[in-house]
Amino acid sequence: MRILEPRMLQYLHRKAGRDKIPLSGTFELSPCCNMDCRMCYVRKTREEVEAQGGEIPMESWLEIAEECRKAGMLFLLLTGGEPFLYKGFRELYMELSKMGFLISINTNGTMITEETVNWLRQVPPIRVNMTLYGAENETYRRLCRNPNGFDQTVHAAKLLKEAGISVKFNASMTPYNIEDLEGIYEIAEDLNIYVQAAAYMFPPMRRDESLSGQGDRFSPEEAARYQVKIDKLRLTMDEFKKRAETMKANHLEDLAEEEEWERDMREPLGCRAGKSAFWINWKGEMSACGIMPYPITYPFRDGFVDAWQMLVEKTRELYMPPACVKCRRRKVCHVCGASAYTETGTFGKVPQYVCEMTEHLIRFTEEELAVQIQSSSEGLQLQ
Ligand code: SF4
Ligand code: SF4
Ligand code: SF4
Repeated sequence: MRILEPRMLQYLHRKAGRDKIPLSGTFELSPCCNMDCRMCYVRKTREEVEAQGGEIPMESWLEIAEECRKAGMLFLLLTGGEPFLYKGFRELYMELSKMGFLISINTNGTMITEETVNWLRQVPPIRVNMTLYGAENETYRRLCRNPNGFDQTVHAAKLLKEAGISVKFNASMTPYNIEDLEGIYEIAEDLNIYVQAAAYMFPPMRRDESLSGQGDRFSPEEAARYQVKIDKLRLTMDEFKKRAETMKANHLEDLAEEEEWERDMREPLGCRAGKSAFWINWKGEMSACGIMPYPITYPFRDGFVDAWQMLVEKTRELYMPPACVKCRRRKVCHVCGASAYTETGTFGKVPQYVCEMTEHLIRFTEEELAVQIQSSSEGLQLQ
């Protein structure tokens, strides 16, 4: 099962990007969490939060939300930490719903009980994005330091599905849970829930500025190997073959010499971040996306409209690394502004980790395609 983004949504974002409308926003309500995952870049204890000035009160979020609404925000993602730990979450959610936003919630799922679902079904969110960290409690104990996390999460997913609330699983694969990859896909299939897994982890620069290019993660070669495994699990055989062929065609496609000369080497960041989307963290700092710690503006201090305009202008001054702009692997590489920045500490340099991962990704995909072709021709001969 796959989720394709509706064309209407793509159209809305394109139009919003052209007109500088903040169509989609994220409110990161709290960095507090009842789990303690090894690779987390946001989690803080209640004491740490208080020492840094505390969470933003509900009334202030509602004021900013009203400014966002007037400026054109339609889609709102509530996230954390664990957003259900935010004091006043339910009241805030209901008030935001009344304002007409289409709300999604990011959660680890472990705090969602029958009672939560009964409350939520009164005004259901458009989607609950739940992270599935493993396929058994032992993995949750090892990775998230919660020995019951798996049972709690799957129970919550079932309850939400039964209540008719849309659920999506996200799975961040790390050296601590990679053994569970197939199990995660099996569980998702049993529950008829779409799962989006990723083997690439951004360096946690939001946690610590000095961690650019670092992280408790796979080597680029391992990340590529597991990404191909994910592709095999998420795609049908035909889709995988198509992807492999497209990949081969694209990465071999050299830029014609004159095209390379004519091409503007100053290519702006390519995604919606800072064009039609924004993220406000629990301290009230607004960035283009949740991964990039730069540029930052201050909507609670300067007003949302001014802070958004400043963010758009600052994002417009950022460019992809020049070497990526003319790279012949570009169409198959997942490089983006956030990966360039978190891998190198700047936007101008090539993120070597991503580069190496892409090189291996192409090689492993081609090797896998060759294996598939070989086994299907053997199958034909046997018939
Ligand atoms: S569940 Fe999410 S927010 Fe909580 S510790 Fe794990 S990664 Fe961090
Ligand atoms: S992670 Fe990359 S692609 Fe995603 S929003 Fe941030 S900059 Fe854009
Ligand atoms: S990161 Fe490397 S492979 Fe990817 S586009 Fe840039 S130069 Fe090319």
